[in-house]
Amino acid sequence: MTTTAAAPSPEVAAFLKNPIQHLVGGENVSSASGEAFATFNPSNGNTLAQIALGSGEDVDRAVSAARKALDGPWSRLSPSARSKIIWRVGDLMESRLEEFALLDALDSGKPLAYAQLVDVPLAVDWFRYMAGWPTKLEGTTIPVSAVATPGDYFAYTVREPVGVVGAVIAWNFPILLAAWKLAPALAAGNTVILKPAEQTPLSAALLGEVLREAGVPDGVVNIVHGDGEQVGAALAAHPGVDKISFTGSTEVGRHIVGAARGNLKKVTLELGGKSPNVVFADADIDAAIAGAANAIFFNQGEACEAGSRLFVESKVYDRVVTGIAEIAANLKVGDSLAPDTQIGPLVSQKQLDTVLGYLDSGRAEGATAVAGGGRKGDVGYFVEPTVLIDTKPTMRVVKEEIFGPVVTVAPFDDTDELLRTANDTEYGLAAAVWTSNLAKAHNVAARFKAGTVWINSYHILDPALPFGGYKQSGWGREHGSSAFDAYTETKTVILNKG
Ligand code: NAD
Repeated sequence: MTTTAAAPSPEVAAFLKNPIQHLVGGENVSSASGEAFATFNPSNGNTLAQIALGSGEDVDRAVSAARKALDGPWSRLSPSARSKIIWRVGDLMESRLEEFALLDALDSGKPLAYAQLVDVPLAVDWFRYMAGWPTKLEGTTIPVSAVATPGDYFAYTVREPVGVVGAVIAWNFPILLAAWKLAPALAAGNTVILKPAEQTPLSAALLGEVLREAGVPDGVVNIVHGDGEQVGAALAAHPGVDKISFTGSTEVGRHIVGAARGNLKKVTLELGGKSPNVVFADADIDAAIAGAANAIFFNQGEACEAGSRLFVESKVYDRVVTGIAEIAANLKVGDSLAPDTQIGPLVSQKQLDTVLGYLDSGRAEGATAVAGGGRKGDVGYFVEPTVLIDTKPTMRVVKEEIFGPVVTVAPFDDTDELLRTANDTEYGLAAAVWTSNLAKAHNVAARFKAGTVWINSYHILDPALPFGGYKQSGWGREHGSSAFDAYTETKTVILNKG
């Protein structure tokens, strides 16, 4: 295991020295309770920083600030002025890319090189893409028929912001998920209260600095740190919040829906997955093996869309299993800041225990690990990249989201039977198929019950492409023009000209 890690830069060391506070109405404020909590480096368990621990009272203050900003300066800005500010957020974030990447790598355990190459550049792209939208959120004119004198009527629609948005996010892509929420919400003219995951609050705090520097008016984005059961639940239940945009587990998604029913606030949910990844014998097998390894091991398997159930046509099953096991055994597991790390630690002791619990259950139910299968080292929360065979559809490792570097592999012969098995899950976030036969690829894509299907590729996410889940993987779609279905209300106006 790699052990030599670079030291955090002086900027980041200085950032971590001071306690991190909430951002409310443009001010950094401590918690109403005065309490704080620690965030840890999962590579070694050391404390990284102290963070203000929010409660319902802090949420109340943030909601008031967001409401005031919504009715005030933000609603008076022209769409193009909003665009410029959002674009500037992307520019400033890019100019501080190294700091953002380092904070996410330290806090979440993701390899620094990936945070530098993937997470932060994508977050920048998300702001830039969404910066183009404020000037394009158009309504329509609609002919009216259901009246005696249709010519007397002129009807049109306008798109308006939903209002105050509560954004609650997970820890696996901290800055990217913050961008996924904030960029479209702001483009549509909403104000926001962001609740970062308690495991990874650091990059959101730096984002708070960037937002202010970019000229986002006070109160337009507020950040309240703390536990889900306190801050997240208070936001979901708050009568002053008009919409909740949630990214996290399906289980917590259900709590959000329950809490949101008081004022029937709008809810969108980006939830868990157990995505099938299918390799046909006519695929470019080397590409499929590399793609299948990337589908599960990228970000330590802590990706909602991870290809965690691999199905391989029998003729090439042995070759694919050997290939992916070889990649798994050779991936460099180590400290998130070590330059050669490909697999960092899981985010927390809790996540480590969860994943090891699944590995135990897989063993007990008869699965065989042909690579990995356990913890790596005894410092930090490292798990060996693991490939499980001899699985059955009823096993927990096959049915439940593990959210770690663990893939199950099963052979298939018949495509109809394969699709029944692949779709036999409560989730429906993503799926993939590897084949050189395009007709087959599109046929299979049509039959997957999933919000995203990749053909001969995996993990391709883009600000322009709708993303979201079928079944219990979510409600609604993020990104692209679809994002604005979730972040705007449509108003219909009818004029009697007669
Ligand atoms: P989680 O559901 O435990 O937590 C997510 C967020 O919800 C955190 O900010 C947490 O503090 C908050 N929360 C917890 N309890 C709450 C409550 N009762 N009320 C309101 N908020 C509450 O999920 P996690 O462990 O942080 O993340 C992993 C999960 O997120 C996985 O299931 C993964 O698939 C999913 N995820 C989905 C997407 C997507 O786009 N579909 C993206 C990333 C992660």
